[in-house]
Amino acid sequence: MTYPTSWNLSRYLYSGLDDPKFLTDIERIIPDTLLFRDKYQHTLEGFTEASQILEFYNDYEKFSYTLGTPGYYLFYLSSLDTQNTEVLKKMGELQFIHTNASNELLFIAQAWKTIGVKKILEWAENPILIGYRNDLMSTAENIRYILGEKEEYTLNMKARPLSLANDLHDELTGSFEFFMSIDGEEKKLTEEEVRSYRQHTNRSIREEAYKSLRKVYNTKQNQITLGNIYTSIVKDSSSDMRLRGYETVMSARNISEEMDDTTITMLLNEVENSYPIYSRFLRAKAKMLKISDFSVWDVGAPIASNDRDFSFDEAFNLHLSVMKDFDSDFYEYSLKMIEEERIDVFPKAGKRWGAYASYRKWDESFVLLNFTGKLRDVATISHELGHAIHGHLSQIQEWAVYDSPLSLAETASIFSEMLLWEKLKTMISKEEYAEYLNERLWDIFATIYRQVQYVAFEKKVHETIHDGQELTYKELNLLWRAEQSKLYGNEIQYDIDGGEESGWSMIPHIFHTPFYCYAYAFGNILTFALYNKVQNGELSIEDYKDILRSGGSKRPRELLMKYNIDITSPDFYRAWLHEVEKLVIEFENLL
Ligand SMILES: [Zn+2]
Repeated sequence: MTYPTSWNLSRYLYSGLDDPKFLTDIERIIPDTLLFRDKYQHTLEGFTEASQILEFYNDYEKFSYTLGTPGYYLFYLSSLDTQNTEVLKKMGELQFIHTNASNELLFIAQAWKTIGVKKILEWAENPILIGYRNDLMSTAENIRYILGEKEEYTLNMKARPLSLANDLHDELTGSFEFFMSIDGEEKKLTEEEVRSYRQHTNRSIREEAYKSLRKVYNTKQNQITLGNIYTSIVKDSSSDMRLRGYETVMSARNISEEMDDTTITMLLNEVENSYPIYSRFLRAKAKMLKISDFSVWDVGAPIASNDRDFSFDEAFNLHLSVMKDFDSDFYEYSLKMIEEERIDVFPKAGKRWGAYASYRKWDESFVLLNFTGKLRDVATISHELGHAIHGHLSQIQEWAVYDSPLSLAETASIFSEMLLWEKLKTMISKEEYAEYLNERLWDIFATIYRQVQYVAFEKKVHETIHDGQELTYKELNLLWRAEQSKLYGNEIQYDIDGGEESGWSMIPHIFHTPFYCYAYAFGNILTFALYNKVQNGELSIEDYKDILRSGGSKRPRELLMKYNIDITSPDFYRAWLHEVEKLVIEFENLL
């Protein structure tokens, strides 16, 4: 069986940039917005009945949905070809239209302000509005950060250049070309391909891959540009903090994640306190590999000498068999995704690197991969399809509470990955088990410890800039190295001075969604708890699916309390960290 490996966008969205439907959908954005505005401006704030609010929600979601579709299409096209100037141009134009449309909708936030917290919370408890409860609660919580209509208008108009900074980041890094000599031949590679060579069995290839990435990212021109893009983004969020009165640099993120500041501080501290476990792992790994000068390019090294490659069909079938054993919904939806041409599999020149799943209410999910045949890529299939299934299951929620906060958004993805790892464990020989453990731990450290280190770096940068200090790219590099050293201890050697290393510039999340990375760390720890509860029968698969189905309809703390999971207790984090330590000891014992 050979699976289709490219997206069929025309089947679900439009046939091209000249599709008449695409053009009309864009053309109707402003008129539709004005119709909606005319109906609710000056009336919304006077509403007293829950039924009126329900009608408002219904109208709002229908119109927001159609308004958003062309943007999704352009986003997909640009993912397939980040250098397509026609698409980029259209995106810029659409952004302009969206800004204008959102200016016409600023009255909504003002109306909520007039209505006031008390009334909104009253509606949140009204049975008619039960499906919108969490949205009403978030609205009530956010009111105090909303400025007057004139100020919001000005900020909205000024937001465009910021999104251009983000686009510039994507366009610039998407244009990077990487070279490596493979089998004696100089080859041009995509970033994804070079990154995957960092896990090669051959040490000199790993080193070359590492240096090839850095050669591009570390040119003075790129560092200046990326440094300035990054600090512009940070400065913008600092202005936002001042204007809106957020308490800390992370408050805006925490509010949108529906997590309180103290819980997140606890998460970061608990993980940081356990950094020495990572050093132990690296120490054991260096011994296992018999490397005395264990370097930064050895961190991702495999233990086994044979570097097993998977064909995509093999990998996908493996994922399917795991899902089949777990739950029929998970299996069937995975099969549907691939058969219906909604997974784009292989790296191509110009294609956005990394992987993602995109989903929204009333639409089918799409998954983008950059499959290179490594064990890691197999896990990525399960990860992204986990997201897609999550997006599918939560479609029972109302549009306004469809999206999970990021802190829950990684649940199904990591859970599916864990299922896959467990399966792999049963399939392999004793010799391969060391490699399995190595991969598993590498993954844990990458998705929890390294994410926490990224956030610690971001926090430093945001706080420094918020204090009014300027940071050059060289200073960013030094801050980066300082945080890195805390995490890695003295276990690895760097080949260059901290002032020259711009590892931070290779992390898209810190540009696009500041502090997002903690959601990975939290999601992993939470998923571990859920996974254990499902395995030992404390939680049924149906319970687990109900958590996924809840989308964004409940606060994480409230939702999880129902299943006896208390995310405000340090024990919740320590139990997990203790399990990691057990895995590291198991790894050490292999020596
Ligand atoms: Zn994910």
